[in-house]
Amino acid sequence: ARPIVLRDVTVTYPSGTRALRGVSLRLEPGEMVSVVGLSGSGKSTLIRTLNGLAPLTGGSVRLGEQEVGGLSGRRLRELRGGIGMIFQGFNLAERTTVLHNALVGRFAHSPTWRTLLGTPSREDLRIVTEALDSVGMLERAWSRAGALSGGQKQRVAIARALSQQPSVMLADEPVASLDPPTAHSVMGDLRRINRERGLTVLVNLHLMDLARQYTTRMIGLREGEVVFDGPAATATDAD
Ligand code: ADP
Ligand code: ADP
Repeated sequence: ARPIVLRDVTVTYPSGTRALRGVSLRLEPGEMVSVVGLSGSGKSTLIRTLNGLAPLTGGSVRLGEQEVGGLSGRRLRELRGGIGMIFQGFNLAERTTVLHNALVGRFAHSPTWRTLLGTPSREDLRIVTEALDSVGMLERAWSRAGALSGGQKQRVAIARALSQQPSVMLADEPVASLDPPTAHSVMGDLRRINRERGLTVLVNLHLMDLARQYTTRMIGLREGEVVFDGPAATATDAD
C-alpha cells in the first residue's frame, strides 16, 4: 500500500499549452477519488503523470518510494504493471475473446515469450477467471469482445486491469460513452472493487452527480489548477 504524492506538478506540452500548473496532492492507499472539471481542464494529463505518460516539466510524482518522472525501460514497465488503466473507449482487442483480453492484464508485468505464445500459467488463469467473475463477465469468456455492449466491454476492461493485481486503478472518463443506467452500474462496480480490494481508485468524471454518489473525495480542476479538494458528498456545483 503506497500513497501517491504529487508536489507542485507542472505539465507544459511542446505546443505551449500549460495543462497542469502547480498541482500538489496526496492520495492515501484505498481512497476512491474523483477528478472533475470541464473538458481541457487537465484531468487526462493528471492521470498520465501517474503512469509516466505525461511530460513533467516541473515538480515530482511519487508512488510510495518510487519517483515516477524519469523512469524508462524495464523500471517504467514495472511501474505500469502495478497500475490498472481504464479508458473511455475501452481499448479492447475487439476481434479476439473476452478471455484473451483479460489475459493481457497478466502480461503487463512481463511482456516476454509468454505474451507472444499466449500460454498462460495455471495461476494466470486462476487470477483472470476470478477477475472476470467479479465483474460478472465469466460466462462471456469465449465471446468476441467486439460483440459486447458498451457496459460489458468496460467490465472486461476492468477485469483486464484487475488481472494485473494492481495497487492503483486509474480511470479516464470510464463511463462517458455509456447510457446513464449502465454508467451507474459500472461506477458501482468500481466502488465495490475499491471497497473489497482496498485498491486506490482515481477516476476522471465530467458529471458531478456520479462523483458525489460513487467517490468519497472530489478534486476539482480548472485550467490546470486544483480549485477544490474535499469530501465528494457535500461538494456543490459552486465549488
Ligand atoms: P481534460 O482531460 O480535462 O479534457 P486534458 O488533460 O486532456 O484535459 O487537456 C488539458 C489541456 O492540454 C488541453 O488544453 C488540451 O488541449 C491540452 N493537451 C492535452 N494533451 C495534449 C498533447 N498531447 N499535446 C498538446 N496539448 C495537449
Ligand atoms: P480527453 O479530454 O479525454 O483527453 P481529448 O479528445 O481531449 O480527450 O484528447 C484525446 C487525445 O488527443 C489525447 O491523447 C490527448 O493527449 C491528445 N490531445 C488533446 N489535445 C491535444 C492538443 N491540443 N494537441 C495535441 N494532442 C492533443
